[in-house]
Amino acid sequence: MSDVSCTQPVERCDLLLTGGAVVTVDDDRAVHERGAVAVRGDRIAAVGTERELAGWRADTVLDCRGKAVLPGFVDGHSHLFQALARGLGEGMSIVPWLCEFMWPYSIALTGEEAVAGARLGVVEALRAGITTVVDNHYAPSDLATTLAVADVIEHAGLRGAVARGMAGERTEIAARRGQPDGLFRYSNADELVLTRDAIGHRPPGSKVEVWPAPLNLTYVGQRLVRSAVEMARELGTRWHTHCCEGASDPSGYLEAYRTRPVQWLADEGLLDHHATLAHAVWLDDKDIESIAEAGAGVAHNPTSNAYLASGTIRLAELRGRGVPVALGTDGPSCGHRQDPFECMKQSVFAQRLATLDPTAMRAEDALELATREGARYAGVDAGVLAPGRLADIVVVDLDRPHLRPLNRLVSQLVYAARGADVDMTIVGGRIVYADGRCRLVDQDEAMADAQHHADRLLARTGLGR
Ligand SMILES: [Zn+2]
Repeated sequence: MSDVSCTQPVERCDLLLTGGAVVTVDDDRAVHERGAVAVRGDRIAAVGTERELAGWRADTVLDCRGKAVLPGFVDGHSHLFQALARGLGEGMSIVPWLCEFMWPYSIALTGEEAVAGARLGVVEALRAGITTVVDNHYAPSDLATTLAVADVIEHAGLRGAVARGMAGERTEIAARRGQPDGLFRYSNADELVLTRDAIGHRPPGSKVEVWPAPLNLTYVGQRLVRSAVEMARELGTRWHTHCCEGASDPSGYLEAYRTRPVQWLADEGLLDHHATLAHAVWLDDKDIESIAEAGAGVAHNPTSNAYLASGTIRLAELRGRGVPVALGTDGPSCGHRQDPFECMKQSVFAQRLATLDPTAMRAEDALELATREGARYAGVDAGVLAPGRLADIVVVDLDRPHLRPLNRLVSQLVYAARGADVDMTIVGGRIVYADGRCRLVDQDEAMADAQHHADRLLARTGLGR
């Protein structure tokens, strides 16, 4: 025992992680090379060097030597139900990808299949260190399936939100783009009733909340978007939508409504700090200014944007104006892996390619997006390792050939590490993934079940042929 511990009063906690390289991502961006984190209940009680925490005692002590200890990752935009479609949809940009592949898949999907996909998706997420997920669920979006997906997320140990996607009544723009009728299966009124019901079951403050999510600002009708925002305000939730993902989104909107989607929201007073906008690639200066002024958040999906050749977000301008920018995987099908490490690396590379400036974004920025900025965006009190914050923690095994020699930890976490290097995932002080096993969900069963349902779905629909 060190002399320091002799002079320190003994403090008790439930879980103590000791000896690891603790990357706090706190306000000082402190990194403790031999650090420790004490957890009491679902919150972090203390963070510091191993010596500073030498007086702490715990029921469970985790020896983290040779490992990195980080805040849990926030996936700011996912579609867990798309897990059964992994590997399909090759070589298309966003509109044909949706019209010819993802919407036919979504329309054909049964509730049971969506739940099987979501269960596989959460297993993958937990194993990669994701602790919060914003799951934009839209197929099928009946009440039972929506709530079942929320249950799958919570029962596996994750926190987050199911942003219930609403297509509503088919608009001019949707018809012009050739979007299939089957996607628009509910009236606007029915969409709103279903969403309100789902939020009633999982109100704000739930471990997995439900948020209203008009699917896309461009092709969902303005009346439904307005009602969704009003509902979010009335019930005190965030709201979610796809925003200007493809280059034709603002131009098509301009043609139909003589304004841009973000501008319409801003002019109507609908853009606010409850808004979480997925993608936000094709923004002009005024759009960026409006998003910043409103305090709205953005989910940046670099792997998906590259896969679908959608374009590159104006990250420096958004962050420079204080916009909370999360990273998102866009789900298991659009980029094919829910790996926050891959998204961090891709986010840096995309900025460097777009600007031809190697300093446009650094590894530290990427880690901020995936953790503290993601938490700010999603409205969860996590994303940093600091006393009082939720104990959402990831332990990464550094004892791997591709992570040695250890020279510059944050760079190596962003550029060299992978989701598969995650050793342990802790959500709210509870170990939900360790020793290669998810603790609360049977991952072998989830994989077998997903394969079974994917085989049947593909045989039934001819998708993938
Ligand atoms: Zn998406």
